Amino acid sequence: MSANFWNDPDHLLHIIITILIVDNLWSLYLLLREIRMVYRVVEVPEVISPYLPQELFERMRKYKLHKSWFTVVNTLVFVITIGVIELYFGFYGWLWNLATKCAVAPWMEHETVVSILFILFLSTYMTIKALPGHLYETYCIPSVQTKYYPPLGKRILKEVIEIILWLMVMIVLVLAIVYSFIAFGNYALLGMYLLSIVFTIILILIVPFLIDPCIGHRVPLEESALRTEMERLTEAVGFPIEQVHIIQVNDPNTGSNAFFYGCCCLKRIVIFDTLLLNRGQRNTSDLLPHEVGKGLRDNQVIAVVSHELGHWMHGHFYRAIILFKIHILLTFLLFALCFSHGPIYQAMGFEPGVQPIIVGFVVMFGFVLTPYTTLANFVLLTNTRHFEYQADSFAYELGYDRDLREALLKLYADNLTYPITDPCYSCWNHTHPTILDRLERLESLERGERFS
Ligand SMILES: [Zn+2]
Repeated sequence: MSANFWNDPDHLLHIIITILIVDNLWSLYLLLREIRMVYRVVEVPEVISPYLPQELFERMRKYKLHKSWFTVVNTLVFVITIGVIELYFGFYGWLWNLATKCAVAPWMEHETVVSILFILFLSTYMTIKALPGHLYETYCIPSVQTKYYPPLGKRILKEVIEIILWLMVMIVLVLAIVYSFIAFGNYALLGMYLLSIVFTIILILIVPFLIDPCIGHRVPLEESALRTEMERLTEAVGFPIEQVHIIQVNDPNTGSNAFFYGCCCLKRIVIFDTLLLNRGQRNTSDLLPHEVGKGLRDNQVIAVVSHELGHWMHGHFYRAIILFKIHILLTFLLFALCFSHGPIYQAMGFEPGVQPIIVGFVVMFGFVLTPYTTLANFVLLTNTRHFEYQADSFAYELGYDRDLREALLKLYADNLTYPITDPCYSCWNHTHPTILDRLERLESLERGERFS
């Protein structure tokens, strides 16, 4: 490779195409490892067999294989093959020229208007490109889960509202990006980074107040054995019980969930009512048929809360935010390094001197920065997986390991998550360790093994 490759559009095009191919082939390699694992394990692992009938496991296995092979074909055809053709023939440069030609009135020739047209065309093209796969996935891969669907009219209305909202957000975002770069040049990046910090602080402050109205509404934890045990646990570790919120969720498809969020007086442990047995109701006649019998018994709920308290005790919220901010800072630095480099735009089919701001964002985040974002994603996932193990260890130290193991098993049975996965695939794709990994780690702790 020539030492001058950085200034040669042809070399840069070959590098960008190589990045696209290698990144997707790596994803496919991991997926093929996963498929091999699914083919190998034909019977329910013994530890979860009381919760997961063989017949159901077999259906989940078929679903997983069907979906995985679909992803393989979809990636090979639509992502790699068509993606390479688009890059090789300068699709992005051509699309920008089309947007420029559609700007017929003089006021439309401003970069902001052409940028909005470009993004509209690109979104439409991407939606059409993804449509065959989306339709196949929706109608040809039968789900193993029973879901509640609202009437067709409501679904269409929801889709239309989502598209309108998305368009409004997109236009505002494009205007903000293009104007800020026109006004401040590369200093706009510094401004964006500082803005992201301010935005994070605002989110930390307001999200606790948005959980209740957006996801559902808070219901009081009535006097019961669950409340008594919850009080005992939270008092033992010094967590205020009034910060444990039970939320009656609006969407009946919402999975059983609990999470820790926030800091100082705004910290919360949020428990969806779907986590409680029969949504915490004594009278099950108001429940949908598939909701009856789902959820955890009181001792299992307490074990899950002890896991969430582990996240609080170990400061995972702060650590995750700091790591994410470092990741954003590195991303912006790499972006700044490549953003103004003309030959990258020429490699994408643009005339020398034509470097539209919005295209820079699409090309850098879509292609050029991929090696970094893939590796960074792996580091972030490794970190969250480590947090999960650490929170489980905390529950173990409090003596809830047995209840936590039972809770994990019941949650997996309720949510029908496929329990078998390839360790390598899991490391690169999952935020949480698998149920089998977590059970194994808890058993190792019980045997006296220690982990950092
Ligand atoms: Zn957790």
